[in-house]
Parts: sequence; C-alpha cells; structure tokens
Amino acid sequence: MSDADTPDFSRTPLTEISDDVLLAHDIRLQVLRLDLADPALGGNKWFKLQRNLALAKTQGADTLLSFGGAYSNHLYALAEAGFRYGFRTIGVIRGELSEPLNPTLRYVQSRGMQLIPVSRSDYRRRDEPGFADELLGGRRKGVMVIPEGGANLPGVQGCHVLAHLLAERVADPDGVEVCLACGTGTTMAGLLAGLQHTRCFVRGYSVLKGGDFLREEITGWLQLQGADISPQRWAIETDYHFGGYARRPPQLSEFIRQFEAQHDIPLEPVYTGKLMAAVYQRICADLYPPGSRLVVMHTGGLQARPAD
Ligand SMILES: *Cc1c(COP(=O)(O)O)cnc(C)c1O
Repeated sequence: MSDADTPDFSRTPLTEISDDVLLAHDIRLQVLRLDLADPALGGNKWFKLQRNLALAKTQGADTLLSFGGAYSNHLYALAEAGFRYGFRTIGVIRGELSEPLNPTLRYVQSRGMQLIPVSRSDYRRRDEPGFADELLGGRRKGVMVIPEGGANLPGVQGCHVLAHLLAERVADPDGVEVCLACGTGTTMAGLLAGLQHTRCFVRGYSVLKGGDFLREEITGWLQLQGADISPQRWAIETDYHFGGYARRPPQLSEFIRQFEAQHDIPLEPVYTGKLMAAVYQRICADLYPPGSRLVVMHTGGLQARPAD
C-alpha cells in the first residue's frame, strides 16, 4: 500500500466542546474526530478493513466481496479502499437497486464496485459459507469475502489502534468514559482489547433495537483474543435506538440540528447523532456525577447524511 493515499489518523483532533448543558452538569466532554482523517476513509471503517486488505494481499486475493444496505458506510469505505489499493470490489446489496441510484451507490460504482442486489430474504443468508459462491456462480477464485460491517477478527484487531489514538490524546485517562455507537460491536471489541491495561470505561450505544446481542458478541471477540472481559470495564446501552436502525424521529433530527448549530461538528442520524443525543440524555438525567469526563468517538458515516 502506498503511504500517500493512506488515511492519516495520527492528527485526528480530540476537541473539547462546551455548552449550557455541559456547564450546568459540570461535565467535560471531548470528541475524537476520526471523521476528519480522510474525506472517504475517515471514521471507523478503515480500521476494520486495514488488516483484511493486508490479509487479502498475502492470500493473493484480487477481489473483495462484502455485504451492506443501500446506504452502507462499510461498502462505501470498501469501494474506496479497493480503488486506492488495487482490489476489485463486489458489494452485495440488501434489496433492489432503484434507479436513479442513491449517492452512496453512485459513489461506490464510481470506485469500480460491482453491485449484486439480493432480496431481503436471501440477504439473511449472508453469513452462510456457500452463499458467496452461489452468487458468483463458481467464479470464486481470487475473491476474499469480508462479513457485513467488517465484523471479523482482522476487523476487530484493526480497531486496537483506536486505543492508542486515545491514549496519545487523553491526558489523564483514569476514570474517563469513552462513548461510541455500536452496530456490530466490532469497533468496540477492538477498542476494549486495546484499552485493557488502562482504567478507561467504555460505553457502547446500540443503534439497533434489540441490541442485547452486542454483549455476547463483544464478549466473544474479547475471549478470542484472550482479553479481559470483566464488566467493570464496559457496558452496552440498549435503550437509545430511537425506534430502531436508521429510524429518525423528529426529536432526534431536532437534537442534531441544535447540536450542529452550537458546535462546529457535523453528525448523521444513524450512528453519531443517536450517540450524541443519548449521551446528552444521560447527562440531563444526572447519570454522571459532576466532574465526569467523557470522550465521544466520532466514527464518521457522514457520506450517508441526509440532505435536510
Ligand atoms: C459502522 C459504524 C458504526 C458501528 O461500528 P461497529 O463496529 O459495527 O459497531 C459506528 N459509527 C459509524 C459512523 C459507522 O459507520
């Protein structure tokens, strides 16, 4: 991989914000702006892909295939990474492709990604070992399959780096609570493994309804890496999904609008907007004692931000 095109996370800022809510509750809140690292590969998805790309290279694979919805941040990053590092990419899309394609799908196509739409019922088979073979009709040679969301062990391991980014930037990490949005839990699992010798607490917010599976998922990844699973280090919040994945009730839109007006930080409704809204709800409910220090991870996703 050429360094020139590699996203540079070494300078992602940790930005402290201030407003009436934070002042009233005496909370110190900093935002780790992973979104700023790169226009197309900023956020968390590059971390999950990096080792998968390296693996593909050592295995001699020339094509990367993965799965996602029509607005997938994961497929967006995969298409971009394939374009930059010389891999063909195939995106298996949940549901029909309706013309005109949305901006996400237009972009991934412009990066050379081949799109294979499948019905929602077929999409449920995405983790079956033979499913990709079936879709490719035997043309499987040279194709490496990456699970939806980059949720595999190399994906988790690639996220260890996030712990180092935090350690470099947070002056006194003892007692700091790190907050992040969870879809598959891959990012959080990697972050926790990387943070295991610190005294940070990590709180993951499920953006899906029924996010209880995340506890098991993350515990599994931690065990696989021989990392500490003790619940004193982390928690998953399952009550801040705002109606379910990609749902955007008016109260959420209103929070995002107000937050963006007060702070120079863009959010999107699927992950970072929900996360920030949830953190503020918890602050307002007095769930954090005065003097608490929070670090919110801005994991990107702005490509799929709605226009309004
Ligand atoms: C994919 C995504 C997440 C969730 O990451 P997981 O590793 O699947 O939990 C969080 N934030 C943004 C912006 C994302 O695109």
